[in-house]
Amino acid sequence: MPWSITVGRFGGTAVKIHITFILFLAWIAGSAWAREGLSAALDSTVFILLLFLCVVLHEFGHILAARRYGIKAPVVTLLPIGGVASMQSLPKDPRQELVVALAGPAVNLVIGLALFLAWGSLRPGEFAEIDNPHLSLVGRLAAANLFLAVFNLIPAFPMDGGRVLHALLAMRVGGALATEIAAKIGQAFAIGLGFLGLFGNPLLLFIAIFVYMAAAGEAQMSASAQALRGLTVGEAMETRFTPISMDATLAQAVDALIATAQQEFPVVDAFGKPVGLLTREDILTAVRKHGGDEPASGVMRVGVDSVRPAAPVESVFERLQDPKAPALYVTDAEGVIVGLLTRQALAEIVLIRSVRPDWRFGRRA
Ligand code: ZN
Repeated sequence: MPWSITVGRFGGTAVKIHITFILFLAWIAGSAWAREGLSAALDSTVFILLLFLCVVLHEFGHILAARRYGIKAPVVTLLPIGGVASMQSLPKDPRQELVVALAGPAVNLVIGLALFLAWGSLRPGEFAEIDNPHLSLVGRLAAANLFLAVFNLIPAFPMDGGRVLHALLAMRVGGALATEIAAKIGQAFAIGLGFLGLFGNPLLLFIAIFVYMAAAGEAQMSASAQALRGLTVGEAMETRFTPISMDATLAQAVDALIATAQQEFPVVDAFGKPVGLLTREDILTAVRKHGGDEPASGVMRVGVDSVRPAAPVESVFERLQDPKAPALYVTDAEGVIVGLLTRQALAEIVLIRSVRPDWRFGRRA
């Protein structure tokens, strides 16, 4: 995420703070100062910092659980709305998904109970006023952690409870249907939260919109994966495209950009094997900095994956979600490029299948 500052590293994970979090902290401190003076500002700042330390520990609960299944998370970013761990993938096995999802709230539950025991007693009324600075810091932190554990278990994406629900459903009805049902339940919860927000805390309305959109996004991804089911890469790939030669100049790449409607250009060697990829944006950015005689291969992206025509689209769909790989090369047994698998082509297939689910592709000669 841009605009983030790395504050530390634990295991293989960098902990970053987003600039908006620092603004949020300044706003909390500033408004407490204006209301009740310096000591209240210090108290609020310390409380928020400790609270977000607990949020980071929550994310590390997920990360350490995922690591047991061989999934790494290179970065955790702190935002005003919470922590985001960027996992390389999500566990496919519902049992593993369940463990990873529960590990986060479990951390807050343990912290909350430990602080609660350390602090002595907590009157039930104090749960409702964790933003009251006259309560002890430990007491407020205990209540906030218990709140975090419960709040995160709301069965709606992107809350952990949404993952728990998805995992439990997937054990019974399989992954695709589980996503559909979990997304519907999540949206129902979001609408309920929104209503509460209308008549109570406006923050809830904000969270409701966030939850609704996350559920819709999840359902959309699942519907796309469903529409692409059963298709091979060979049926979904673009076959009419202009490759750019490895020794072409930037001027020749610009000519290809004008002459075609293509967004992605594979750069190939003399044998037709792909060595890199140039997108429309790459070419336009390069034009700003370089002259026409510059070799086009100097500005291409490398490390784009090759797939085979017989591979199922489902198996490579996730790789196309990476912003660094807007297309995949499709190559034959000799490694010669025979097609390009692009997001654009897949979006068109999803569109056609949404109106004609039985439509058959790949009948072209
Ligand atoms: Zn979590």
